[in-house]
Amino acid sequence: MKFKSKKVEERFANCTQTIQRLAKEMYEWSLNTYGIEITITETWTTHAEDMKLNRQSDTHRTGRAIDVRTKDIPDWFQPKFIEYFNALYQKSLGAQTKEGPVLIVDKKHGNGPHWHIQVRRGVK
Ligand SMILES: [Zn+2]
Repeated sequence: MKFKSKKVEERFANCTQTIQRLAKEMYEWSLNTYGIEITITETWTTHAEDMKLNRQSDTHRTGRAIDVRTKDIPDWFQPKFIEYFNALYQKSLGAQTKEGPVLIVDKKHGNGPHWHIQVRRGVK
């Protein structure tokens, strides 16, 4: 798998089994099906880092989220990825929100364009 930095890669070990498995599946599916190598730019974070970034969600510090860089992913591929993984896992794994389970947050937010991929509380 491809990570933005050694630190982000080392911290991947602090993530839950479920997000680790999902990240691996996303990486391999993108590469093996479309020849696209995705880059993971964030994994587990500390509470202090989240406070500094004014991060509202605790999904990174509880090891339930990763971020994937999107600026180097072709436009045509982005909806394919989102539709494919939402169809498989949004209902069963997506983090609970007022609007229902959400697996992939695609709106522009945080440091540069990325997908925030999150799983619900309580899954190992
Ligand atoms: Zn994130």
